[in-house]
Amino acid sequence: MPIFEYRCQACGTKFEKILTSPSAEAACKACGSRRVEKLLSVFAVAGASTRASSLEPGPCGACGAPRRGMCGE
Ligand SMILES: [Zn+2]
Repeated sequence: MPIFEYRCQACGTKFEKILTSPSAEAACKACGSRRVEKLLSVFAVAGASTRASSLEPGPCGACGAPRRGMCGE
């Protein structure tokens, strides 16, 4: 069953939703807004590390670079 990831354009909350039908609409779990952006579909979690890195900002908190050192630090 396809799982889609969304980000609310109103408050920025990310959430996942399992769509039971192609026409199902997603609404933000935090504020209820339907102004949500579909990010990607997740059929299987390939790896916890890659998944975490795609959701979290990079180790470098200064610039958000995926790896420390890419920003010249
Ligand atoms: Zn929201």
